[in-house]
Amino acid sequence: MSGRADGKVVVVTGGSRGMGEAFARRLVAEGAKVVIGDVLVKEGKALADELGAENALFIELDVTSEASWNAAVARTEEAFGQITGLVNNAGLVQRCPIEELSEADYRRVMDVNEVGVFLGMKAVLPSMRAAGGGSMVNISSLGGVIGFPYIISYVASKWAVRGMSKAAAQEFAPYNIRVNSVHPGMIATDMTANSERSHESVKHQPIKRQAQPAEVANMVLYLLSDEASYSTGAEFLVDGGYASQ
Ligand code: NAD
Repeated sequence: MSGRADGKVVVVTGGSRGMGEAFARRLVAEGAKVVIGDVLVKEGKALADELGAENALFIELDVTSEASWNAAVARTEEAFGQITGLVNNAGLVQRCPIEELSEADYRRVMDVNEVGVFLGMKAVLPSMRAAGGGSMVNISSLGGVIGFPYIISYVASKWAVRGMSKAAAQEFAPYNIRVNSVHPGMIATDMTANSERSHESVKHQPIKRQAQPAEVANMVLYLLSDEASYSTGAEFLVDGGYASQ
């Protein structure tokens, strides 16, 4: 049976749990070879084992470290060949009023969510260019399209990811590499499990529920596949209509 991601070699950061896990599962089901890159080792290894060594590999990857990225790219090429897909999904959020947020905590969120995406695109580019092209999907957020209170570093980092994706899309187009950003709304993962604000806000959006990670995986699969051949430098919302208001 042919899959929508047949022949693709895709690195998914933050792939050990949550949305990244859903992306890895869906991509393997559609025929891709997937590298799960995360700092969460036990969960990532268990997921790769479950998906099977011929389909998936866990690599310990800290997206804030260029050396870690370069090692992950080399290991991926060794296992599956040149990289044709990248999902920069690793991220974290810190909820806190601005006046109580330390500079170090502000920078930590920027480091993972923003610098991590820069390092990922930079590290994977040579492999993807050598492969003759590919697709990069950067996971931003609804907080990369509008603002939310108490998560200023998160909003700053996610607006940055949206802009960076447009800059990279223009730079990489000559290499047949597309770059897009995805903007999930309220998705049921560990990140939002304890956020009353997330649970409350879905009541005020057109589709009045949280989404499952698999619903975002559908969008990511589309953008990684050749079906999205004419889309680059664009933002794709998966937000239950929140931003339409
Ligand atoms: P999650 O906390 O379940 O998963 C995040 C993953 O990123 C974890 O596996 C974590 O170990 C990994 N990670 C964190 N720092 C890392 C680092 N330095 N290097 C490598 N991996 C690292 O959260 P999630 O909800 O699945 O979030 C995935 C992405 O989606 C994030 O970028 C998040 O900002 C974004 N997002 C989430 C929601 C939501 O409602 N859950 C909404 C919009 C956007």
